[in-house]
Amino acid sequence: MVSLRFLGTGGARWVVAKQIRSSAGFWLRTGTTNVHVDPGPGALVRALALVPPCDPATLDAIVLSHKHLDHAGDVNAMIEAMCQGGWRPRGALCAPRDALDRDEEPVVFPYARRFVPAEFVVAEHSGPFAIGDVELRASMRLKHPVEAYGLHFRTPEARVSYLPCTRYFDAIADDFRAHAPDVLVLNVLRYRDTMDVDHLTFDDARTLIDAIRPGAAIMSHFGTRMLERDPKRLAYEIEDATGVKTFAAYDGWTYDAA
Ligand SMILES: [Zn+2]
Ligand SMILES: [Zn+2]
Repeated sequence: MVSLRFLGTGGARWVVAKQIRSSAGFWLRTGTTNVHVDPGPGALVRALALVPPCDPATLDAIVLSHKHLDHAGDVNAMIEAMCQGGWRPRGALCAPRDALDRDEEPVVFPYARRFVPAEFVVAEHSGPFAIGDVELRASMRLKHPVEAYGLHFRTPEARVSYLPCTRYFDAIADDFRAHAPDVLVLNVLRYRDTMDVDHLTFDDARTLIDAIRPGAAIMSHFGTRMLERDPKRLAYEIEDATGVKTFAAYDGWTYDAA
């Protein structure tokens, strides 16, 4: 069994500030292993509020794709909950160097970092890191204002790749195609590029899904314009154009990958 549980599917400042969609990231779950990816603001509250809840004390790893607030706002709260305030150290913390280092405006508090017995630095093509029965590898460095990496998870039953926030560039497709994902989760913040920013647009998403050709694609991390245009309808549009089964994630949704 491999499932993805979307605690939050919002991105961009406005959506996060108003919590139009939650910003709590997602859980990857196998029969024995639980991984929380990108615990943004509200992650702890959302995890506990789900029915049935995602219990942080069962986590085996907390993973950050990058240190921006909408991905890391609750990382310290989740570490405390995973390690029960430091009394029961467990699990692993996986994050880029600039989210950890004292001279880089870290987002993980040094005291909380010490609670976690294992630490894996996410860097260009780093890994494989063993997290229970899951293997994690990082992608090439993405184009984003801070260190940001794609994450390739290999479980006994399925390969799940996550493409977080980045500007589009052609080499993304080669990196991700090489991991032949059964499921590709990608952050599609923008509909079209009206401003020049380091995020994927809907058009980029269609291009990438067509080039990577995963077993299934899941769009998430939506900004206002994407939400206004109904992500579910946009997912059908991509599916029609590419022939790849495509979904739009929503808060609380669980996708069974295998
Ligand atoms: Zn970002
Ligand atoms: Zn983001």
